[in-house]
Amino acid sequence: MPNSATPTHCPYCALQCGMNLTPAADGTDGVVVLSERADFPVNRGALCGKGRTAPAVLSSRVRLTTPLVRRAGVLEPASWDEALDRIAEGITRTRAEHGPDACGVFGGGGLTNEKAYALGKFARTVLGTSQIDYNGRFCMSSAAAAGIKAFGLDRGLPFPLEDIPRTGCVVLVGSNPAETMPPALRYFTELRENGGTLVVVDPRRTRTAEQADLHLAPRPGTDLALALGLLHLIVAEGRTDERYILERTNGWEEARAAAMAHWPEYVERITGVSVPQLREAVRLFCEPEHAMVLTARGPEQQSKGTDTVGAWINLTLATGRAGRPLSGYGCLTGQGNGQGGREHGQKADQLPGYRKLDDPEARRHVAEVWGVDPDSLPGPGRSAYELLDALGSDIRSLLVMGSNPVVSAPRAAHVEERIRSLEFLAVCDVVLSETAALADVVLPVTQWAEETGTTTSLEGRVLLRRRAVAPPDGVRSDLEVLHALAGRLGVEKGFPTDAEEVFEELRRASAGGVADYAGITYRRLAEENGVFWPCPAPAGGTEGDGEGVPGGSAHPGTPRLFLERFATPDGRARFVPVSHRAAAEEPDDEYPVLLTTGRVVAQYQSGAQTRRVDELNAAAPGPFVELHPRLAERLGAAEGDPVAVVSRRGRAVAPARITTAIRPDTVFMPFHWPGEGRANTLTNPALDPTSRMPEFKACAVRVEAVGK
Ligand code: SF4
Repeated sequence: MPNSATPTHCPYCALQCGMNLTPAADGTDGVVVLSERADFPVNRGALCGKGRTAPAVLSSRVRLTTPLVRRAGVLEPASWDEALDRIAEGITRTRAEHGPDACGVFGGGGLTNEKAYALGKFARTVLGTSQIDYNGRFCMSSAAAAGIKAFGLDRGLPFPLEDIPRTGCVVLVGSNPAETMPPALRYFTELRENGGTLVVVDPRRTRTAEQADLHLAPRPGTDLALALGLLHLIVAEGRTDERYILERTNGWEEARAAAMAHWPEYVERITGVSVPQLREAVRLFCEPEHAMVLTARGPEQQSKGTDTVGAWINLTLATGRAGRPLSGYGCLTGQGNGQGGREHGQKADQLPGYRKLDDPEARRHVAEVWGVDPDSLPGPGRSAYELLDALGSDIRSLLVMGSNPVVSAPRAAHVEERIRSLEFLAVCDVVLSETAALADVVLPVTQWAEETGTTTSLEGRVLLRRRAVAPPDGVRSDLEVLHALAGRLGVEKGFPTDAEEVFEELRRASAGGVADYAGITYRRLAEENGVFWPCPAPAGGTEGDGEGVPGGSAHPGTPRLFLERFATPDGRARFVPVSHRAAAEEPDDEYPVLLTTGRVVAQYQSGAQTRRVDELNAAAPGPFVELHPRLAERLGAAEGDPVAVVSRRGRAVAPARITTAIRPDTVFMPFHWPGEGRANTLTNPALDPTSRMPEFKACAVRVEAVGK
């Protein structure tokens, strides 16, 4: 490996911060030395603690370097051949006894584009199963569904982050970048320095909300009503952009009528946000020429998440903001490849290029690239939670790649029990996660700095993550695993182990689709610091010509979408009429308090990697229950006392953290930890009817002081 610095990207969140890595000198601590990469415009060298300490997870002290197979109930070291043979045998047995759909595949939003693509192809062409989905279903699928409904296309941000400081107002809904992606906070700080305003909608006074010009703190699960109340006031105050509505949208009258049924006083009763606060939010949002609404997991992780995001999108349409410069709606994606992870075929209902699996033309195109009969491709399968819920019954074996559902899935004790009931479980991971610990076979795989691949950031910017250091002995890449398993299952071709070769096929498979990567090559990604999709191929095809055919020129990529037209058949955006409805589970006498869950700055997702980093563990050593002093007083609980949070699905115990930053009717738990304090033991798997996303953000609980 070269000893010079390799420019690459962080393994964690969707900001995909740039960083330089240099192999560490012999005899020094660690595997690589991390240094600032100021040329990447998104973070300009800044990193949060997770990114700064990410090299620690490369150390063989904390990771798997040997395959493990279960013998007499115990996971023991094994050779790669034995481990791969065991997986092939497990899959073959399941298929023979129960059919291909009894084989499940569960992927991850952190997998590179190449891995996500290869995993979807493996499931559908080697296993022949429809039962594949991924943990991104838990992450932002409601925003994706709402974006497709309204704009005909789902790309997290339809504009680059650099537009944020230049707009007039940002309404940030259910997002806390101060904890989730701290380097992004500067965009909002610069917005305010430039005279713009920040409105934060969050049931908690988060570190992000503390920086806002206006903080609205609705009851969890009521931000759909909040958005309707704001639209009501926008109409009542004559702040709509009638010409834009006429020229660029459909469906206004129905959406308008739905909003007018939500009087501000009614919305105040539902949400707890006062009418003067609603009026002030409308003033801040409508007065500037440019304004944005950005959502994250808050509005999305609800049993009505698609409608909730749709209601916020409606605000940007009614005021003529979507598809205008420095304005519009965007979603701040969470996982590192949350965007690309859902574009290339590991989602239950989609094929590469963001094509729909039940579209005959999409099936024909992708089948041709894959060299298979379109009729041999299975149809859409179960969504993530539904797939996990079917384990042990309809689904008998499961291959997990890059996910830890024992900690991250809703109703996690039930999911853990379903996983334990499987006839066969194989997990590919870098560490022995809680899910891997239950497996029959565990394969140790390479990670970010040890392999090359692409990710697609929250901006829709496709990025090249470069290999900076050799992996430890005994470790193989996920692509090598799929190649080896395909061979053992009788498919010798079609699963290259070289990421660039996979990407070349992905380009062809995505060509002409919504997420069109046909004009993107590794060379362009390296030279241009990323390329925004859609980026169609220049005339002449996609074979190696992303730089342009002779006499032609490369497509520049598309940093800003919708400026001329939306991606709908008639080019117009669609208002979606929505009405308030309650969370699937509202407080009652038995469970009188609302629970909402989220993240802390020093941990990432299920914590499988970050809980193994000393510095991060010191900063965030375990779960806690955030509760208001009034609730704490009623319980007789003092700061740090263990409190139990009980829902219809189970019980979690963690120390009390008492703060006025949370509503008295709500408690908050971060979800990064397993065991007694596992927040997802409590959460409700009620699914959004469109996105199939579970309701992580609101469920009814009771809180008890432990030992009192
Ligand atoms: Fe990594 Fe996200 Fe932190 Fe940036 S903000 S360093 S991408 S975890």
